[in-house]
Amino acid sequence: MIIRVMTMSYRPSIDNVTKAASNDKDGLYEFIVKLVDGTECRVFYHRFPEWRLTNISRLQKTPCPVCRKDFICKCMDSFTGEFERQMSDEQWFDKALAE
Ligand SMILES: [Zn+2]
Repeated sequence: MIIRVMTMSYRPSIDNVTKAASNDKDGLYEFIVKLVDGTECRVFYHRFPEWRLTNISRLQKTPCPVCRKDFICKCMDSFTGEFERQMSDEQWFDKALAE
């Protein structure tokens, strides 16, 4: 029950996005997304026909902000929609690809 409450109250906030890898021809992109709380995630996108998040995983540099584990967990999966919204609204694609 407590974990559920923590999960519901956590909200990722994107601080910076950098491109880690890309295949422009196929529209495949890998970004490293840094959150304001220091969490870093590896995020995969498919560009065509429009930007779509296909996979997200937390880099295990810091404990998970949701479950506090310092090994692999699936918590970030539940924030896929939030990541997609911020990536789009805050135009992180343009910023990351301009570098
Ligand atoms: Zn977790």
